[in-house]
Amino acid sequence: MKGAVSPLTLTRPRTIHDAFKLLRDDPELVPLAGCTDLYVSLNFGTLAGTKFLDLWPLTRLRKIEIDGDVLRIGALATFTDIILSRRVRTWLPMLVDAARQIGGPQIQNRGTIGGNIANGSPAGDSLPVLAAANASVLLGSADSKRLVRFGDYYTGYRTSVRRPDELILAVEIPRQDGAQWFRKVGTRAAQAISKIVMAAVRDPAGARIALGSVAPTTIRLPKTEAALAKGVSIEEAVRELEGEITPIDDVRSTAEYRLTVAANLLRRFWIDTALARGSGKGE
Ligand SMILES: Cc1cc2nc3c(=O)[nH]c(=O)nc-3n(C[C@H](O)[C@H](O)[C@H](O)COP(=O)(O)OP(=O)(O)OC[C@H]3O[C@@H](n4cnc5c(N)ncnc54)[C@H](O)[C@@H]3O)c2cc1C
Repeated sequence: MKGAVSPLTLTRPRTIHDAFKLLRDDPELVPLAGCTDLYVSLNFGTLAGTKFLDLWPLTRLRKIEIDGDVLRIGALATFTDIILSRRVRTWLPMLVDAARQIGGPQIQNRGTIGGNIANGSPAGDSLPVLAAANASVLLGSADSKRLVRFGDYYTGYRTSVRRPDELILAVEIPRQDGAQWFRKVGTRAAQAISKIVMAAVRDPAGARIALGSVAPTTIRLPKTEAALAKGVSIEEAVRELEGEITPIDDVRSTAEYRLTVAANLLRRFWIDTALARGSGKGE
């Protein structure tokens, strides 16, 4: 481990606008939220940056609100905020399920949804939820704001369309019809990185299904979704899924295990949501 006592600087903006200006004027500034990912990189000596912009005091970015047909979760909302939010519980219960299984209470108290998105780990547990829910990421800079569909946000392994002068401000989730479902498979119930993670929504038109830890980014399963929308049997849909993902062996699991478990998760999702379909959960 490398010592943390090194020439690091921390700048605290007073407003979001200050933060935008600081980022525009110094492209080397690294935004810092709950620091649960950054601190690990710092301790492992793998962090490239030495100048940090502390977003934590920007409490406006912690707001969770419903705006018309959209649930807006501020980037600084922690997983504990999400677990405790009645709005999230009614609009997007699968995100509460995911938040409860992230790390343990300490990580949930500090880790933010914006940090999870920005870190972009293929195993990030909130990401399949956002993909299945057709969420959008709100980005802002000194010059402008833009809304990016979650499906267009990542460009590859831990890379995204976010420019260095931009911050993630919030994530927006449209109203969900139908039954929501989330399942994380890890070594333990807490403090475990996902071997595989699935989030899905079943509505009258079919299903939206997203998987984590099976590709360089969180992915949707368009072929499997199309097959289910056509009304094929679940075993035919499983065959689509098996042709649609190519997981790899790594320190946490094997490709074979991930493929088998992904198929089982799809079957389980289909059984669990058979009765709940169209129940209006999430309205
Ligand atoms: C013990 C432990 C257990 C964990 N368990 C899990 C788990 O089960 N599931 C899981 O998904 N993750 C887990 N994590 C990872 C981590 O907690 C999450 O990814 C968390 O959401 C990161 O949020 P943060 O606010 O701490 O991000 P930070 O560490 O502050 O930042 C992470 C990255 O995001 C960038 N960033 C942060 N906020 C913004 C913003 N608003 N705009 C632009 N860039 C930003 C930072 O520059 C940095 O690159 C775990 C971590 C630890 C240490």
